[in-house]
Amino acid sequence: MILKLRATATPETVDGMLKQLEEAGVKGQMVQHFNDRLICIDGGQFHQIKAVIDNRAVKSVHPIGQGYKLVSRKFKPNDSVIPVGNRLIGGGHVTLIAGPCAVESETQIMTIAKAVSENGAAILRGGVFKPRTSPYAFQGLGQEGLKYLVEAGRLYNLPVVTEVLDERDFDLVATHVDLIQIGARNMQNFALLKKAGSCQKPIMLKRGPSATIEEFLLAAEYIIAHGNPHVILCERGIKTYEPMTRNTLDISCVPLIKRLSHLPILVDPSHAAGDRGLIKDLSMAAIAAGADGVMIEAHNDPDNALSDGKQSVLPQVLSGILETMCQVKKVLSA
Ligand code: PEP
Ligand code: MN
Repeated sequence: MILKLRATATPETVDGMLKQLEEAGVKGQMVQHFNDRLICIDGGQFHQIKAVIDNRAVKSVHPIGQGYKLVSRKFKPNDSVIPVGNRLIGGGHVTLIAGPCAVESETQIMTIAKAVSENGAAILRGGVFKPRTSPYAFQGLGQEGLKYLVEAGRLYNLPVVTEVLDERDFDLVATHVDLIQIGARNMQNFALLKKAGSCQKPIMLKRGPSATIEEFLLAAEYIIAHGNPHVILCERGIKTYEPMTRNTLDISCVPLIKRLSHLPILVDPSHAAGDRGLIKDLSMAAIAAGADGVMIEAHNDPDNALSDGKQSVLPQVLSGILETMCQVKKVLSA
């Protein structure tokens, strides 16, 4: 059960309601959901929660079925716009996130940061804790890489995003970056999702390679239900029987998610295609389908990249891709 509170409800009243629930043996939590304050009630019999529901501070009552609630457009009809550093994601902006798959050295990330900033990127990406299929593949520079990434972002005035793989690194990453990535492989790492819910930094949640759209939205619901409404979704391709691309970009999930949810959605054509020759076309398709932007892997020397070189573009091509995406956007809004 979710109770939406009136704007006039005082903190004392809310505390009293939470205490009432606790005394009835029911778990209740105050959650800030954009401009609304909510009390999320976990289970409980009707007689145990009736007094709280009847409180005058309650504006509306929303029973929870099996599905998602807080991410849904039914619950919040207007599009959410998520601030990331000095940028906004959603609300009609076409966002380009770009940078290498992995931070490889201080020089490498500085060179790429300069080039992507000159070619229209709004946010700098760079993996420092890398989820690699093989334990023998480059695992990222860890904390040292994080330092280089943050320095590069500061130098070129770009907010930064990196992936966190492990709950134990979460606070370290959250303190230093502007946007925290939960990668495809961790989309259903519930401990990590809860941890992401307990912080106030925006989270970019990538769709699991085998996750349905409902599972994707429920994973986002975990983060919001645990207190952090600042979630950006990212479609990065799903596993199908098609071997010619690394994954299959599920373009239909973009308009579908726009219909079902108020959250912004980005597309990652790099991990979807695994082929730099497809990045521009897929980026155009993403914007045409209604995405709020794209995340593209870019490298100054893709053929010698320590990871995902095949799908990495040269930073110089980004400005052309961005321009084309903006043209597509313009046609859509005409
Ligand atoms: C990434 O963006 O660095 C990454 C590993 O992507 P994914 O989690 O989508 O595979
Ligand atoms: Mn990669």
